Amino acid sequence: MVTCMTHSPDETAALAALVGQKVHEGTVLCLEGDLGAGKTLFVQSLARTLGVEGEVTSPTFNLMNIYEGICPIYHFDLYRLESEAELDEIGFYEYTDEPEGIVVIEWADKFPEALPEDYVRIRLERLADEEDGRLCSISCVGGEHEKFMKELAESVHSSH
Ligand code: ADP
Ligand code: MG
Repeated sequence: MVTCMTHSPDETAALAALVGQKVHEGTVLCLEGDLGAGKTLFVQSLARTLGVEGEVTSPTFNLMNIYEGICPIYHFDLYRLESEAELDEIGFYEYTDEPEGIVVIEWADKFPEALPEDYVRIRLERLADEEDGRLCSISCVGGEHEKFMKELAESVHSSH
């Protein structure tokens, strides 16, 4: 697991850029954390690093946005989703079963049963005593992303 403390939006964006430099096509990234933790900010920086030039906003109402960068990026936000059955309706599994491009899912932990076997888990938590402080933990579920985790750990350590 890679953990680090960030003290500003820019520092979280820098971490997301490191993830963007290492991530491979076919990866699902699941983001967890309360409202305002920084999930969308993380995705914005990740998408920029992957060459997306247009607007990147939280797909709270439309549930999914697609961006074109060096590969397609599918950005889900499950905040307003009420049941797992709705995931089928929005075609969620078509994107996560054998992902083309990169899939990022905000509020992924709302439906743990719906997540694929292999994914990268990114958890952002506010710090109680620091308004702009966040604890960022990145880990992988399943064995497929262990090499990615190792490379990420090296680049996070060398950037500090
Ligand atoms: P979420 O998608 O998790 O609801 P957003 O990314 O929309 O959260 O909003 C995060 C807010 O918190 C932004 O306004 C951002 O500027 C602010 N913020 C303050 N400190 C940080 C930090 N260390 N990391 C990320 N965001 C931060
Ligand atoms: Mg958001």
